[in-house]
Amino acid sequence: MTKDDIITGKQAIIKMDCPVCGGNKTANYITQTHELAYFGEIVESTIQCEKCGFRHSDIITTEQKDPAKHSLIITKKSLNSRVVRSQSATVSLPEIGIKVEPGPKSEGYISNVEGVLIRFKQATESALRMFDDEESQKNANAVLDKINQVLAGELETLLLIEDPFGQSKIMDVRAKSEPLSDEELKNLKTGFTVIDDEQ
Ligand SMILES: [Zn+2]
Repeated sequence: MTKDDIITGKQAIIKMDCPVCGGNKTANYITQTHELAYFGEIVESTIQCEKCGFRHSDIITTEQKDPAKHSLIITKKSLNSRVVRSQSATVSLPEIGIKVEPGPKSEGYISNVEGVLIRFKQATESALRMFDDEESQKNANAVLDKINQVLAGELETLLLIEDPFGQSKIMDVRAKSEPLSDEELKNLKTGFTVIDDEQ
């Protein structure tokens, strides 16, 4: 097992009543285990309702973890590196000025660096539709432009994942993991997508 390995394990599916529409056994509760090198086991759980379309995913670790901060300079080489983001983690591209904080609807997911960038792109595009003043449009377009450059491998930038429950991970040998300081922990908020003003 090398440092960036994920081994996918058992999957289980249970039929349950939908927590949203109340459908009788219309929802599938799917759990999938994954073994992460130098990290331990995580369980990806997804609820999907066949009746109303409700879908929600979470990531849980089976072991207790400490608050941690993971960072990686995104290069063309790291676009395929796997990323585990738990629903409690704040994900940001601080040099570009975009941050996604956990909120009531936030989901845990397993993706790769490219997938994280695409999520940022979608968040920026929805901000472009939501806020039509000149300043917001200018900021969002500048962010979008830079994300596209990173996706094309033309720009290197820092990816930061801060998780108060330590359940996230960047599976790349070049990624750094450090404990979160008390100060950083205090500053981690819960809320919705925020686009920081570029300084
Ligand atoms: Zn439903």
